[in-house]
Amino acid sequence: MDLRYSESDEAFRKELREWLADVLPGLPAEPSIDDWPGRRDYDTGWQRQLFEAGYAGISWPTEYGGRGATLVEQLIYLEETTRAGAPYVGVNFVGTLHAGPTIMTEATPEQKAEHLPRILRGDEVWCQGFSEPNAGSDLGSLGCRGVRDGDEYVITGQKTWTSFAQIADWCEMLIRTDPDAPKHKGITWVMFPMDTPGIEIRPIHTIAGSTEFSEVFFDEARVPVVNRVGQENDGWRVAMVTFGFERGTGFVSDLVETDRLISDLVRLARQVTRRSARAWDDIALRREIGHLQAEMDALWAMTKRNLSQAARTGVPGPAGSVMKVVYSELYQRVTDLAMRVLERGSLSLDDLGDWPSGGFVHERVRSTSFSIAAGTSQIQRNIIAERILGLPRE
Ligand SMILES: Cc1cc2nc3c(=O)[nH]c(=O)nc-3n(C[C@H](O)[C@H](O)[C@H](O)COP(=O)(O)OP(=O)(O)OC[C@H]3O[C@@H](n4cnc5c(N)ncnc54)[C@H](O)[C@@H]3O)c2cc1C
Repeated sequence: MDLRYSESDEAFRKELREWLADVLPGLPAEPSIDDWPGRRDYDTGWQRQLFEAGYAGISWPTEYGGRGATLVEQLIYLEETTRAGAPYVGVNFVGTLHAGPTIMTEATPEQKAEHLPRILRGDEVWCQGFSEPNAGSDLGSLGCRGVRDGDEYVITGQKTWTSFAQIADWCEMLIRTDPDAPKHKGITWVMFPMDTPGIEIRPIHTIAGSTEFSEVFFDEARVPVVNRVGQENDGWRVAMVTFGFERGTGFVSDLVETDRLISDLVRLARQVTRRSARAWDDIALRREIGHLQAEMDALWAMTKRNLSQAARTGVPGPAGSVMKVVYSELYQRVTDLAMRVLERGSLSLDDLGDWPSGGFVHERVRSTSFSIAAGTSQIQRNIIAERILGLPRE
């Protein structure tokens, strides 16, 4: 691993920084929290701008239209886009960070040609239909049936917690195609068009005031067999490839967000005054923030190692689970500390005077989901125990 910046790395940074300074002031206003069509327009508009400037799919190989950036360039990209406050990947998360990479790794040349350019341009939004009411951590127990009927699968059942379902064009979906086989051997990974007749999407309202995910019901919805990725009943293996990307490298941008949040917390502590002293004047608080930043720095070093491994092998290893556990719990601790800085101010989702308190309270509520989404912390710890530490299976 060589992570020093060369002259060409610095040239890449300069070019990107200038581009960001040029385009960011011209972005439209962000849509409100529950304006999903507006959110789709905003996020896919940004994806299109990245595409036209040659920055879309920064880690994707050039043969699939990506930038094919080196590892160091990818890290520079993350640092610079975060520093400049560029939009987050948003509704393009599933497509660009794990459905697309799974298609790249597992799909046929025709499937790649159909989807990869459209994902990169922001023309296709994807969602993930893996979880079900009785199959979350124990995903292998999923029951949504796909019955083969000629050259179609007829799908009946339910998915849940499907993020962005209401505005997605496609769903990476797991269906049970052989109910008699051992549970991990009867699953198939399919690309499901979200405009297929026979589905109903019911948004779920969260405590944070969002409807970002939904329940999705399937009533004999038909999907062509050519939409299958991998072999019939080999979907569990393909899903592990998806998870490798989702848990391994998909969270890197969230990590950069965590770093930004710690800097915001420092600014907040300097702004908030209690009995004529600034919160920042409290040595114990400064020490706590220092510890959080040190953990963040260690995590960033580990991320570089993990990305470096992914660049060598093409697929991230189980170390992504370590990153996911530490990042999600660190983010929660940063927001917890912000609540202590705000004291009673943390009881309102609105900003207090000129303190940006509402955003921190919102992040505290939202971050509760971080240690659940994409595999709970307990499940990640099981993976770390079994696949990294080599401990006996649970
Ligand atoms: C914000 C958010 C977005 C999401 N988006 C999507 C999406 O787009 N698509 C999708 O398919 N899913 C999505 N999910 C679902 C997510 O993958 C599941 O919530 C997660 O896998 C946990 O499953 P569950 O909710 O059924 O909890 P359960 O599996 O019922 O777990 C309940 C509790 O038991 C613990 N537990 C379970 N089994 C074990 C074990 N073997 N050892 C130790 N502890 C255990 C868990 O850690 C947890 O604390 C999303 C979830 C969130 C929060």
